Amino acid sequence: MSQYTPPLRDMQFVLHEVLKVEEAFKTMPAHAELDVDTINAVLEEGGKFASEVLFPLNREGDEIGCTLDPQTHAVTTPPGFAEAYRQFVDGGWAALSCDPEYGGQGLPVTLNQAFYEMLNSANQAWTMYPGLTHGAYDALHAHGTPEQKATYLPKLTSGEWTGTMCLTEPHAGTDLGLLRSKAEPQGDGTYRITGEKIFISSGEHDMAENIIHLVLARLPDAPAGSRGISLFIVPKFHVNADGSLGERNGIYCGAIEHKMGIHGNSTCQMVLDGAVGTLVGEPHKGLAAMFVMMNAARLGVGMQSLGLTEVAYQNAAAYAKDRTQSRALSGAKAKDKAADPIIVHPDVRKMLLTARAYAEGGRALGMQVALLIDEAQNAPDEATRRDAEATVALLTPIVKAFLTDNGWLATSHCMQVFGGHGFIREWGMEQYVRDNRINMIYEGTNTIQSLDLLGRKVLGDQGAQLKKFGAQIQQFAMANMQDARMQEFLLPLADLGEKVTKLTAEVGMKAMSNPEEVGAAAVDYLRVVGHLVFAYLWARMARVALDKADSGDRFYAAKLFTARFYFAKLLPETASLIRSARAGVEPLMAMEEDWF
Ligand SMILES: Cc1cc2nc3c(=O)[nH]c(=O)nc-3n(C[C@H](O)[C@H](O)[C@H](O)COP(=O)(O)OP(=O)(O)OC[C@H]3O[C@@H](n4cnc5c(N)ncnc54)[C@H](O)[C@@H]3O)c2cc1C
Repeated sequence: MSQYTPPLRDMQFVLHEVLKVEEAFKTMPAHAELDVDTINAVLEEGGKFASEVLFPLNREGDEIGCTLDPQTHAVTTPPGFAEAYRQFVDGGWAALSCDPEYGGQGLPVTLNQAFYEMLNSANQAWTMYPGLTHGAYDALHAHGTPEQKATYLPKLTSGEWTGTMCLTEPHAGTDLGLLRSKAEPQGDGTYRITGEKIFISSGEHDMAENIIHLVLARLPDAPAGSRGISLFIVPKFHVNADGSLGERNGIYCGAIEHKMGIHGNSTCQMVLDGAVGTLVGEPHKGLAAMFVMMNAARLGVGMQSLGLTEVAYQNAAAYAKDRTQSRALSGAKAKDKAADPIIVHPDVRKMLLTARAYAEGGRALGMQVALLIDEAQNAPDEATRRDAEATVALLTPIVKAFLTDNGWLATSHCMQVFGGHGFIREWGMEQYVRDNRINMIYEGTNTIQSLDLLGRKVLGDQGAQLKKFGAQIQQFAMANMQDARMQEFLLPLADLGEKVTKLTAEVGMKAMSNPEEVGAAAVDYLRVVGHLVFAYLWARMARVALDKADSGDRFYAAKLFTARFYFAKLLPETASLIRSARAGVEPLMAMEEDWF
């Protein structure tokens, strides 16, 4: 019953009119030739794959899920998943933004990001298989030896082999320093790895001929804690010198989890029984190498929730125009009917506009960060590359946590628009709520993201990077302040900027005498900074829409209405968040543990 139309018009707006990507690409030698038509054509084709191939598999994927054969340890994915994956690989989609040296198409990360939003709208569970593969590709591209790269990157690029990240163990989730899996050197450059990993997404399946696991484990002489963790490549099938597949390796799926959502993705308990692997990067420095994959995955998880926000919004908006209940408070609107469509009711509109503002704001943020990654990889001068990389690091926890929290609010509101029909399975809305919930948990819970933002990324450098980002906002505000029509956006933006500066200084001061002040403020703080980033992006989008206000194209009028809604109804949340953040640690820590 659910429907999905790729939001190509809005993507083009963000890419071409707000971010002006083709101008940015012209400064990057690798992408200088890319033109608007090519970008749009890729997105259009990508949208077709998402809506025509993946979307029809989403509901059945949820209902049937994955199954494990305990005798053979084989996992069967839902009907159509493997065939869709074959089409994905044959169509070259896996290779879109990969390095041409390994068979990639070398297109910008920005395009891949937009493509992944659509894949996630269509089918988050399916999208996790290629999504993790791309993360494994990134980690090996950055840290693999020339031999490892030659063996694995071409197959991960093409998508013929998929990848996983094997971090979590039963007693070691957030705190990876606790992990126990062991790696014994064999004296021939390989290691035998023994241990148990849990919750491994895409750990076993029937979609590709080989699975390349990136596994964290400890060497015999490893120091305790997170400084004693090394990273290993452990293939499901060994790879012969000529690239052909050899014997089965000692890693297998012992069980699959039964869970709240993303049923089409296999969440596996993986047993490593003397599995043979090779070391990636330096001994004991595995976490640093793994962070390449984790950062890619954090951005990817933000895009998962963006995708769900968009598809939930589309369905709720269509339903609200069709479903008739009650009359508008101001009198009947659809006089030919027994009742008005529910879109006449202010609160139904509030729920719809909340989802819409979070989808469009999230899209602008997702693409902005992707463009910064392209700059970090391709800008000709070192200073621009470093600046872009630092801004990506600052924004990564915001993309992960703010977009997934917003996705939770948005999918829940959209389900609410359906009333009781949203709660039953038929309309597909409850699946979006269930699927979104994991996004706030995995890849470092949203609490951990907030500690990363406030503790490491902001206080860790005395607010220097945040100040740089603030200076960009100020520059934009100064350049547009003389236009009276922009003031409704710029005044609250400037006001919030000042408040963030004060809040940061206040928490920083308090944290000097009590480090737990950081933990007490972090979640509220991330949401406040998330709104600052959104307000900046919404003001930029409003700027473009105002310039086109006379065009007669109602796309721009709708953009302005949505911007005004965001500033009037969502941004004010920051006042209560700041108050809560300032309340500090005392209300949380005063009570004795045994009173709980
Ligand atoms: C469906 C699914 C798929 C997954 N896929 C993968 C995968 O592919 N690979 C992989 O390795 N793992 C995967 N995971 C594991 C996931 O990343 C972890 O569940 C997550 O990191 C949290 O770890 P945990 O479950 O052990 O919770 P815990 O670490 O036990 O945390 C419990 C609670 O305590 C809080 N907490 C913990 N430490 C702190 C702290 N220092 N400060 C404040 N609060 C804290 C947490 O925020 C959380 O609310 C997956 C999990 C699920 C459910």
